[in-house]
Amino acid sequence: MLFTTSWDDGYALDLRIAELLERHGLAGTFYACPTPQHGEGMLAEKDIRALAVRHEIGAHTLTHPHLTKLATHEADREIRESKEWAERVTGKPCTLFCYPYGDRNDEVQTLVRNAGFAGARTTEDLRFDASDPFALPVTLQVTPFPYRRRFSPAWKILDPLGPLRFRFARLRKAGIPLTAMTSWFTLAKALFESAKEQDKPFFHLYGHSREIERYNMWKPLEAFLTFVREQDVAPVTNSALIQ
Ligand SMILES: [Zn+2]
Repeated sequence: MLFTTSWDDGYALDLRIAELLERHGLAGTFYACPTPQHGEGMLAEKDIRALAVRHEIGAHTLTHPHLTKLATHEADREIRESKEWAERVTGKPCTLFCYPYGDRNDEVQTLVRNAGFAGARTTEDLRFDASDPFALPVTLQVTPFPYRRRFSPAWKILDPLGPLRFRFARLRKAGIPLTAMTSWFTLAKALFESAKEQDKPFFHLYGHSREIERYNMWKPLEAFLTFVREQDVAPVTNSALIQ
C-alpha cells in the first residue's frame, strides 16, 4: 500500500512537519500559498526551495479564495499564477494543485487541467483510492476527533461532537468499531489497518501544521507516523497517486 501525506497553505510550522516526516522516512506534498493565512507566519521562499529537495511542492492558488465564487478569468489567474510562482520558487515543475477549502466544480477542474497540472487534491475524506486525477481524495485529516474542544464558543456549545457526527455513518459502513472512535490516534490506526487488510491502493494523511499546533496534536501525529513506519508501506508524495 502507498502511504502519502499532504500539508496545506505553507505555514512556517510546516518545517516541523517535514522534520517529523524525514525522521520517519516518509515524504509529503506541501501545497503552499504565497499569501499569509489566518495571520500566521508562512514559509519563506528559501524554506520552500529547501523542502522541494526531499518533498514535493504543490500549488494552492495565490490568495486562497473559494474558486467557484470567482469570475472565470480570476479563477484562471489564481490557478495559473500559483503554478508559475511555485515553479519560480523551487526551480522545478509544479504538477499538482490543491483546491482551497476543497471548493471545486467542473469548470474549476477544467481550468486546473488546462493550466497544465497533472492532478489536483480535494478534501473528500475516508477514501483509499482515486479514479479522477483532478479529484484526488484523502483518507484522514489531522484534526481533533471525536470532539473539537477548542473552537468557536458557538460551535462548542452547539456541536462539540461534530467531527464524529459528520463521519459516523461512513465510519460504520467502513467497518470501523466504536472502540476505535475514542481518539484521533485510535481512529487513524483502525483506518490504516482496515485499508491494509483490504489491500487498498493508498492511505492519504493530510492536515495543516497550524491546526496541529492549535489543537496540540503533535504527539498523536508522531505516534501514528511511528506506527506507520513499522508497517509494510511505500512512502510516496501525492504525485505517485496518479502514476
Ligand atoms: Zn488551504
